[in-house]
Amino acid sequence: MFLVIIRVVICPKNKRGYYLITYSNISELRQWLSSSRKAGKTIGFVPTMGALHEGHLSLVRASKQECDLTIVSIFVNPTQFGPTEDFSKYPRTTGEDATLLEGVAADVLFLPTPSEIYPEGASTSVDVGEIGTIFEGEIRPTHFAGVATVVASLLNITQPDITYFGQKDLQQVAVLKKMTRDLHFPIKISVCATVRESDGLAMSSRNRYLSPEDRNESLLLNRTLIHVETSIRSGISLSDCILSGKKFFAENAKTAKLDYLSIVSPETFQISSSFNESETVGVIIAAKVGTTRLIDNILVSDENSASGRITSAVTNAS
Ligand code: AMP
Repeated sequence: MFLVIIRVVICPKNKRGYYLITYSNISELRQWLSSSRKAGKTIGFVPTMGALHEGHLSLVRASKQECDLTIVSIFVNPTQFGPTEDFSKYPRTTGEDATLLEGVAADVLFLPTPSEIYPEGASTSVDVGEIGTIFEGEIRPTHFAGVATVVASLLNITQPDITYFGQKDLQQVAVLKKMTRDLHFPIKISVCATVRESDGLAMSSRNRYLSPEDRNESLLLNRTLIHVETSIRSGISLSDCILSGKKFFAENAKTAKLDYLSIVSPETFQISSSFNESETVGVIIAAKVGTTRLIDNILVSDENSASGRITSAVTNAS
């Protein structure tokens, strides 16, 4: 209650007449959820780690279109960062984030502390199996267990009708779809297309780490994906597409170091051996630019599904 009052005082009604209500406490959020559901409202949920940009806001807008009420969480989840990763220096910009959320008329900002999400002695974690151990999971071995565990907690707390994720994190989407299917979460997952800067760089909270030279070099990820897409559409074998993509990257990189470039099934992340035009394949890339690790992907299918809203999978909706 205290936080709600503070928020209303700091952020008076915005132009559209909305208040952004902020909760950091699970029981207060649940009271709000309970009365919203009694009033027959549908709930959309957008989990984030903050440092919001247009990519995040596109998920909020999608939720606003489809649901009566939209909750956005900001939680920099310690368990998804490895010991040498950027947890402590991950950008935390809550004031600016709240202003952006007011601009898109989100209803609730859920801002829990680590001890609210991980109560004293918490030791349960969600193991999603092999899909969590390949590509990003090979380079970041504890990452997907951390993501799956925190998203399971957040979904249990918020129990939304629809939860929104970005295609930008394609393997995360595959992991979370698998988790919600395997564990019978009664929630629809909606995946929104990657929002890019005008020069093609996928928006990311980590882009702010890039020096001007690195920012320029980072364009190589998207350019390599487009090169591979063109090769796929030319009809050469997928293994040759990857060889050609790696050559393109190596010839154009000044400082960037490629971690992986591959063509996979977007659902299973198993390597695709051929391009069947009735099926979508994902071209995935990860590279280090300066000290920043960037990931990106595009989907390639007959319908050119790389643009627009990509999938909307119902998982055990009841
Ligand atoms: P994060 O704050 O990085 O954990 O991201 C929160 C959500 O926003 C995830 O579902 C991301 O996939 C999504 N997201 C991040 N960047 C983008 C982007 N450029 N376009 C669309 N969605 C994004």
